[in-house]
Amino acid sequence: MRGSTLRAAGLVTVVLAGLLGSAFALGRSLMPDPHPSAAGVATTLGPRYGEQPPSTDFPGGTASARPSPDAAPDAAPVKPGGDGPYGALVATGSSRVALTFDDGPDPRWTPQVLALLAQYGVRATFCVVGENVEAHPDLVRSIVAEGHTLCNHSWNHDINLGKRSPATIRADLLRTNDAILAAAPDARIAYYRQPGGAWTPSVMSACADLNLTPVHWSVDPSDWKAPGATTIEAMVRSQMGPGAIVLMHDAGGDRSGTVTALQQLLPELLARFELEPLPVGSP
Ligand SMILES: [Zn+2]
Repeated sequence: MRGSTLRAAGLVTVVLAGLLGSAFALGRSLMPDPHPSAAGVATTLGPRYGEQPPSTDFPGGTASARPSPDAAPDAAPVKPGGDGPYGALVATGSSRVALTFDDGPDPRWTPQVLALLAQYGVRATFCVVGENVEAHPDLVRSIVAEGHTLCNHSWNHDINLGKRSPATIRADLLRTNDAILAAAPDARIAYYRQPGGAWTPSVMSACADLNLTPVHWSVDPSDWKAPGATTIEAMVRSQMGPGAIVLMHDAGGDRSGTVTALQQLLPELLARFELEPLPVGSP
């Protein structure tokens, strides 16, 4: 029965191929992410930033509500008062929750995030990258005009900025602040977030010098990896709690999953928490 033998052989081939495919997919999902610089694929949507570096590189690579064991008091010249890496903020200080959106502004995704926030009457914080601010000052004005607050996220998302000279770090942060103020002269810039969470004592010193509060996060759905809306939603739900600072991205790649997840999450979060932008009022 050559026909049935062939069919059986074909079936075995299909099953084997399926198993191999699953194993390959599983292997890929278990593999650590390559270094951010290798992860990016150029798009026409503007700069694409690698995000979090391997967590072993920096104490800030992993989110924690507890002080990092690496953040020994004598290692950090400045203790900003938070419980994150080197004292960076990882909580709002109240039961209120803060949503933060990093790496923009981006002409495709930032307006979609702004529209959703407006639809639900939620104000948030945007951690903007200087070169994107310079390219899209109108979006910075929209962010400010709609009552959101701003956070400096460096000039061009240099993950290794914290390892550079104090003068280089200071110049980078100042250049970004200047671009924000050129776009929106009335903006208050009270926060800085280090790209990749790669905090160093030098970055902390620059923040203290420039009167910027270092802000980390406590909820990280890794949306920059574009894992899909369902995964982003599940990760936010599982990590969320009172006082959380949530890290999401409105730029740096395909953020359709983030936008879809936000649409689902906003009503849920509003039912459980009061949402606030990180405050920039006088201390
Ligand atoms: Zn970033």
